[in-house]
Amino acid sequence: MSKLSDILRERSHFIIDLDGVVYHGNQLIDGAADAIRIFRDRGKTIGFLTNNSTKGSREIAQKLNQLGIDCSEREVCTSMDATVDFMSRSEKYKRMSIKVLGSGEFKTKLSKNSLNVVDSEEFECLVVGMDPQFTYETVAKVLNPLIKGCAFIVCNEDGFYPSNGVWMPGCGALVGALRGSSGRIPDEVVGKPNPLFLKNFVDQLDGDLSKTLVIGDSLESDVWMAKSVGVPSIWISEKPCDLDGSFGLKSLIDVANMM
Ligand SMILES: [Mg+2]
Repeated sequence: MSKLSDILRERSHFIIDLDGVVYHGNQLIDGAADAIRIFRDRGKTIGFLTNNSTKGSREIAQKLNQLGIDCSEREVCTSMDATVDFMSRSEKYKRMSIKVLGSGEFKTKLSKNSLNVVDSEEFECLVVGMDPQFTYETVAKVLNPLIKGCAFIVCNEDGFYPSNGVWMPGCGALVGALRGSSGRIPDEVVGKPNPLFLKNFVDQLDGDLSKTLVIGDSLESDVWMAKSVGVPSIWISEKPCDLDGSFGLKSLIDVANMM
């Protein structure tokens, strides 16, 4: 296994997670903007890959710009973007009636991409993103088609995410309720830790997995995704510890200081 300093020098594409690495809610994490500037000064291509399933790349790029981080829409990919892309590339899903649980923007994007989004209680495919307003009623309204075997696609199964100093329930809260009540597991989890989420984004950035490094704060999503395709990773964690193929550090600026 190479040393971290060698990996930082050799890898050209740094794929960086957002929640818990660059920001907490609307609060930039100390040193994150400086670290990204240092990476760019060293010639690295930066991409932000997030399991956020309520917003698209344009909105996230705007948020980063407002926080003082220079980036374009093309340098961001969310699990919502990836799910819209996945669904709209599939002839199978294009033929189905689709029920969406998630943000208004998610529903609009799926509709705009030639998918047949319906509002009825009869449908052939259920697509799930984060829905902070979900209730018992939300689950009850989709349970029967789910038990009968409709297609079941989810943006991600993250249980929680850091927001302004506390943990908040993530997309996995709703997916967990659906799994628990129906006994179904999703047919497809499009976001992290799905390795295709990483691979497609690295392709978009004209990169190669053999030259990629992943930086994230979740073992289950960021580190596992990287590990499953043999990409080294840095696990941002309060109590850093090195794992096989993953290096533990406390913050993004600590990564920059190792360069
Ligand atoms: Mg994170």
